[in-house]
Amino acid sequence: MLVVALAGFGIYQLTATKDDAPNDISNNKMNQSDRQNNDKTTPNFDKARYSQTDPTSIWVIVNKKHGLSPKTYIPNDLVVPDVRLRVPGNSSMQVRQVTADALEKLIGDAKSQGINLELSSGYRSYSFQVSLYGSYVKSDGQAAADRVSARPGYSEHQTGLAADLDDLSHKCHLETCFGELPEGKWLAAHAYEYGFVIRYPKDKESITGYAYEPWHLRYIGVSAATEMHIQHIETLEEFFGVSGGVNY
Ligand SMILES: [Zn+2]
Repeated sequence: MLVVALAGFGIYQLTATKDDAPNDISNNKMNQSDRQNNDKTTPNFDKARYSQTDPTSIWVIVNKKHGLSPKTYIPNDLVVPDVRLRVPGNSSMQVRQVTADALEKLIGDAKSQGINLELSSGYRSYSFQVSLYGSYVKSDGQAAADRVSARPGYSEHQTGLAADLDDLSHKCHLETCFGELPEGKWLAAHAYEYGFVIRYPKDKESITGYAYEPWHLRYIGVSAATEMHIQHIETLEEFFGVSGGVNY
């Protein structure tokens, strides 16, 4: 059983790397021509290409209606990206390999344009989320905690596909004013080119379940992020037609 699962995972990894790697030249060319063609959508974009429930899938949807299965899932390809890290040596500085590759490119390109970003938080384990969520509940109560922190097994950070970024001054660390900084504005404009979406956009709390988080990126691959961008669809729930919302 385990062997079958691992073999399946290996095949998935190869497919995902081949078609959604941010450095893939043919993909970049396709996206550039998409933009030049007056934001034409892709007629046959296949939203069923990857699973929305398999935790290893780059399109897995994790929200208050859809927890990770298994709840204690741990990605098997966590790495520390070669970018500026807020807490070097901390286990939360890891992300999955695909996320790392895309982050390195994004943060490198941003830097060349005078936009300096660092990784603030990436992978968080189930047990870390137990203590993080617990501390919010203890200080603010469960209702307030649910607005800002995921219950254990329901955090996108556990997939290794999410990354909180920050500017180097930390003046808007985990604050909505990050969206008004040059760094936040650059991310809002360019994240999709590297396969990321701003996972919790403004005024979408009723859909995503979370208040605006301009610092929280989610990797879904260049093709899907570009498709969402050109269709002006901001949330994964709306794009893939998956339920979400503020209640568990
Ligand atoms: Zn986050």
